[in-house]
Amino acid sequence: MELIREVPDFPEPGISFKDITPLLSDVEALSEVVDLMARPFRDASVATVLGIEARGFVLGAPVALELKCGFVPVRKEGKLPSATVKETYELEYGTNTVEIHIDAIRDGDRVLIVDDVLATGGTMLATCNLTRRLGGAIVGLSFLGELQFLNGRDKLKAHRIQSVLQFGK
Ligand code: AMP
Repeated sequence: MELIREVPDFPEPGISFKDITPLLSDVEALSEVVDLMARPFRDASVATVLGIEARGFVLGAPVALELKCGFVPVRKEGKLPSATVKETYELEYGTNTVEIHIDAIRDGDRVLIVDDVLATGGTMLATCNLTRRLGGAIVGLSFLGELQFLNGRDKLKAHRIQSVLQFGK
């Protein structure tokens, strides 16, 4: 889709970055994408949508409104003001940490997790672990797009996955 801009060698050599800002600024494309991201979960009694910083916030909040439920941010370490739980995971070089407020999910809450791009799946897997630690029941994972050649789905097999776009490179 032409509203996703491919930026070669960003943020480092060899990465083809999927820039979603042209899509976000187009009202018709944005509403269509939000509808498609929410659609498989309309009858799933979702209680909370989790969005992963930062583009998962932009897409997650309107998906939550579509599903008539609230939104909870999953943030990078050190950004959330109240008590949190955190999960650290491996990157190609080094590690990354995601956090969520400890009182953001109640035991048994039905949760849908949203992010823009599924790459290796590490960020989403860590977010699934956080959700489970707080007692959340994961109803599904919804992405705008998926880098198929990285096989991120293999890490997330237990879950129902929606991805609107597939990227082959
Ligand atoms: P991963 O943990 O490898 O699945 O990476 C997922 C996170 O990194 C998502 O939050 C994406 O926003 C971002 N990301 C990874 N690769 C790309 C890419 N090629 N273009 C845009 N965003 C990416």
